[in-house]
Amino acid sequence: MRDLHEMASCLDPLQRPLRDLRISVSDRCNLRCAYCMPGEAFGRGFVFLQHAELLSFEEIIRVARQCIALGARKIRLTGGEPLLRHGIERLVEMLAGLCNNDNEKPVELAMTSNGLLLAKKARALKDAGLMRLNVSLDALNETIFQRMSGSNNASPQTVLEGIAAAESVGLTPIKVNAVIKRGVNESEILPLARHFRHSGIILRFIEYMDVGTTNGWRLDEVVTSREILARIDNEYPLMPIESHAPNEVAERWAFQDGAGEIGVISSVTQAFCHTCSRLRLSTDGKLYTCLFATEGTDLRALLRAPSGDDTALRQRIASTWQNRSDRYSQLRHEMTEALPEKIEMSYIGG
Ligand code: SAM
Ligand code: SF4
Ligand code: SF4
Repeated sequence: MRDLHEMASCLDPLQRPLRDLRISVSDRCNLRCAYCMPGEAFGRGFVFLQHAELLSFEEIIRVARQCIALGARKIRLTGGEPLLRHGIERLVEMLAGLCNNDNEKPVELAMTSNGLLLAKKARALKDAGLMRLNVSLDALNETIFQRMSGSNNASPQTVLEGIAAAESVGLTPIKVNAVIKRGVNESEILPLARHFRHSGIILRFIEYMDVGTTNGWRLDEVVTSREILARIDNEYPLMPIESHAPNEVAERWAFQDGAGEIGVISSVTQAFCHTCSRLRLSTDGKLYTCLFATEGTDLRALLRAPSGDDTALRQRIASTWQNRSDRYSQLRHEMTEALPEKIEMSYIGG
């Protein structure tokens, strides 16, 4: 493994290194958030991937190993809802083995989940070696939560219980992500901020993005990070704090009274493409070099070919990264019309 770690960083033409690998392990979800998998588009008739189409755990490990060799230092499991993937704890355990292989350059193993199944799974995930957890929660008010999540029988209480279970097994520090959509859950900004003050949990607000083609995104539905910060600052004064790393996407703010910190991810109003180091692997084995990609690079055929050895796999991943010129968010303002057909976030992995 050491020889792999010692390889030079893999850079794209804009000199951005490959640092993060996001693996979508399921294209299915137990929610239908209007901004991600709206029920009208992902209803009964929608055809999800069949089991044979999904990358197996062994295939995922082969890809992850080569990405680490090319410089990845963080692996995040996502989806769809990652906790719906049967045997997810085993995949976490296999990946943790890979991530802990070289103590000098540790690889962080994280997951983003909607938290609904977390109370049941937190202990097993921790034991399997999961290091970090982000949980999505857009509202504390049940009616607003159900509207945002497109689900009449889901409750924010279940998510909060999942968060509590994750904390109790030591899956900390937990980050909670909230997407704010104008006219739907703006009223939850302050209650969420209030709820997570003094909790040790880092609440982050994500600007509503134009991912995929089904969410009917409109710019006037985006509540900007500036507006979110102003609303919170008005009640609980904030001060900016240093980011942890140059490629960190969240801007950090601390409560001046010492009650903790919050973050804002300004994907729409302040593009961070110039430091974007994320590579995405879809559930069926395609590589995407941007959340807003229109096409992916298939790895599954190579993974399943009798001759598909790991050197060829590494070369395919490296050349995909080295040919990457993505900076969609930076270009968004200039692209006023004729946006190309994009891939859904639930499929590509959020
Ligand atoms: N199901 C898991 C969850 O919700 O945490 C993981 C996958 S989800 C696609 C990952 C993250 O993407 C979530 O925090 C979700 O809120 C965010 N997301 C999805 N669609 C979005 C959009 N249109 N704009 C901003 N964030 C979005
Ligand atoms: Fe599911 Fe997460 Fe998308 Fe919501 S944001 S529909 S929980 S994948
Ligand atoms: Fe990265 Fe694409 Fe997002 Fe820019 S738009 S930050 S390149 S994923």
